[in-house]
Amino acid sequence: MSEILKRSISEHADSLVKGEYSSLELTRAFLERIDSTNPELNAYITVAHESALKEARESDERRARGDARGTLDGIPYAAKDNIAVRGLRLSCASRMLENYISPYDASVVSILRDAGAVLLGKTNLDEFAMGTGTESSYFGRAKNPLDTDRVSGGSSGGSAAAVAADLCSFALGSDTGGSVRQPAAFCGIIGLRPTYSALSRMGLVGFAPSLDTIGIMSRTVDDCSIVLRATAKRDALDSTSAQFPTKSLDGILPRDLRGKRIALVREVMELDISEGQRIAHSRAADVLRELGAEVSEVSIPSLPASYAVYYAISSAEASSNLARFDGVRYGMRTEGMESLEEMYVKSRSLGFGNEVKRRITFGALILSGDYKKDIYENALRMRARINFELTKAFSASDVLMLPTSSGYAYKAGDLKDELFDAHLKDDVFCALSSLSGLPSISLPCSTVRKLPLGIQLIGRAFEEKTLFDVAAHLQCALN
Ligand code: GLN
Repeated sequence: MSEILKRSISEHADSLVKGEYSSLELTRAFLERIDSTNPELNAYITVAHESALKEARESDERRARGDARGTLDGIPYAAKDNIAVRGLRLSCASRMLENYISPYDASVVSILRDAGAVLLGKTNLDEFAMGTGTESSYFGRAKNPLDTDRVSGGSSGGSAAAVAADLCSFALGSDTGGSVRQPAAFCGIIGLRPTYSALSRMGLVGFAPSLDTIGIMSRTVDDCSIVLRATAKRDALDSTSAQFPTKSLDGILPRDLRGKRIALVREVMELDISEGQRIAHSRAADVLRELGAEVSEVSIPSLPASYAVYYAISSAEASSNLARFDGVRYGMRTEGMESLEEMYVKSRSLGFGNEVKRRITFGALILSGDYKKDIYENALRMRARINFELTKAFSASDVLMLPTSSGYAYKAGDLKDELFDAHLKDDVFCALSSLSGLPSISLPCSTVRKLPLGIQLIGRAFEEKTLFDVAAHLQCALN
């Protein structure tokens, strides 16, 4: 069975329909591979053996009765461990929630449950999704399956490693400032950050709610489109969720990219980028031209500053959001304290790791006194300016293209003590889409010493179909 684990969702769906194998057999094969590989990779924090087998059996029974629910029925997947699944631990890779069992499903999980998808388990991440290589996980980092000395990216590094190592057929991640796209790039897979509000955030543990988005990680562009179509739904439980025009995803892949206007962002060249990434980026542009696209350049003057804007806004929101983990409402509570204040301080000091504390402290600081005006409010103004620059850019183009990160996956430990610097360098590539809410997709575009590099496409709101069309052509031509 192990050779079929690499197959796409449609291939599995086809085989399930034809009865070539059952969902139970497929799920067992994934679980066996997880059992043999995960102790080394650490992609999953929790493996849901029992419930996965039960869900697979139920799917097979439905199919036998002629009640199969569609493409995703019986397809095994994984969810990042900051997404709630009823009855399973929801740890956010934090000591704070080490033993917390979720009493309910996130809306996206319950949509997938209704579609018949089989949940294999919960994947590793940076603590509360803050980081770039899962090195801040309380459970230890996830390793990159392509080179285990290297990180698999972050914060959805467990999901990326799980997809890349054939430990699931697709995975959910979350992307606040690049956490789906960058790990996808580091592991050589597809990572979609959908339009903000397209997927319900209900049941996603918040980091920075004005930026948080559940994202999709898969082996192929087509798989990503299948999962988006199934999960993008207006949800009454999330007042920010919107009705995605699912019909816009219909239609076949155009023969080429004639008529598509793709713009490269001029300021990218001012950023710190590795030679390999620079070459891969310009090769991708050449390929787009060969495919008939009109390739031009556009200026987003605020690009170099975007990481700082992202950093200020996300930390400010995180400081307020994570206040609920106080040992009373949520989270671990320490023993042996003499006052209420001491209980808060001790519980939070022990429950949170350094990176989370750093963000909360920075966020609280810039929301107070003069810092609020100087930093937080300026960041909000800059966010508006970035939106303005993007609107202008999209008046003459359909898609923007830029690298997903400055280079390939770094060695574990290389950035551990300088996470701040790591962000300065790399989060800048992902901040535009995060701050604007526009959809973006990362796809593998090249390899250097067998390590993948990613290219990122940003589109107009709710125009994921355009991203899929360009990404599918690009991926096919680059391979
Ligand atoms: N690297 C970014 C950060 O640490 C990404 C976070 C995210 O998207 N969850 O803030």
